[in-house]
Amino acid sequence: MTIETEFVNKQALINHYTKLIPRHVLAHYPTPLLRANCLATAGGAVELWFKRDDLISFGFGGNKIRGLEVMLADAIRQHANCFVTGAGVQSNHVRATAAVAAQQGLPCTAVYWGKPPTAVDGNYRLSRLFNANFHFTHDDDRASVDSHISLVAENLRQQGYRPYAIPRGGACAMGVLGHVLAVFELYQQCLCQGVGPDAIVLAVGSGGTYAGWLLGTKLLKLSWTVLGFTVSREADAVSQQVADLASQAATLLQLDWRFQASDAPVYGGFIGQGYGIPSSEAADAIQRVAQAEGVLLDPVYTGKAMAGLLHGLDKQQWRYKTLVFIHTGGEPAFFCGQWRMVTST
Ligand SMILES: *Cc1c(COP(=O)(O)O)cnc(C)c1O
Repeated sequence: MTIETEFVNKQALINHYTKLIPRHVLAHYPTPLLRANCLATAGGAVELWFKRDDLISFGFGGNKIRGLEVMLADAIRQHANCFVTGAGVQSNHVRATAAVAAQQGLPCTAVYWGKPPTAVDGNYRLSRLFNANFHFTHDDDRASVDSHISLVAENLRQQGYRPYAIPRGGACAMGVLGHVLAVFELYQQCLCQGVGPDAIVLAVGSGGTYAGWLLGTKLLKLSWTVLGFTVSREADAVSQQVADLASQAATLLQLDWRFQASDAPVYGGFIGQGYGIPSSEAADAIQRVAQAEGVLLDPVYTGKAMAGLLHGLDKQQWRYKTLVFIHTGGEPAFFCGQWRMVTST
């Protein structure tokens, strides 16, 4: 097959699937694809690129906007007139949802695990600024958010609202499709810029983003390996969750594909003491990237994933030549007291 035929074939696939995915665009795309200039990457033997989704130009950006653009189109189609979602108080997803709701002139209820914190800072402050209503579960179990999202939505229904409920962290099949579109975007950008990635590296929380990258690369029959670094749950459990979400999203595209946990390799080892707790490895990675590239990673997700990626590079453990790191955003965490207390950087 010539390069031209391959290009035409892939473009036809992109056109076909893009038509099947509803999207209400809120930002400017494509986000930049920039090569790391100064970061020492295995003595220069490895090319490292940043896909700058942190620069998504809406509501402080980040990967969550991509999922929300698809959910918003779905919500509009369903004539929903309010949003309900949830996670922890410093959630990027909740902040992004609050921004989307504000833009639509619709109310948004944020369900948070635990009790109200004393400090109103970081993403919590931004969500308040976007005028979200807050509901605390008063239970430190993160899963308490799930039942409370259903309760709050049911209450709203009884008051005559038509709520659009988004699962904790935004992890749902509809949202996954937003990340499938990101794969199409990166593929086209790589052609234009002459970049030939062999691996894509990203931080994994609830798994929706990874699921989209997995499904998208399979839809386009790309030879890219997608690798995730978990920042919260056990690696095996996350692989299964990613596979399940990718399968559900494939169903929305009328495909009977079943992904297995083994299709979604996830590395552990860089969570530190737990989700949202800054680690010294991440602090070092953040400092290294900030000083070498002028790029700010975040302490909760991308800093930890980059710590894992750099560890592999420094130890020359990767067999990949060209890596694209998806910078999924999260900088509001820098403006949260918890982060300031733990590190001097
Ligand atoms: C949510 C988030 C992720 C992880 O995305 P999931 O779809 O939850 O796996 C990565 N980086 C940032 C900055 C995030 O906010």
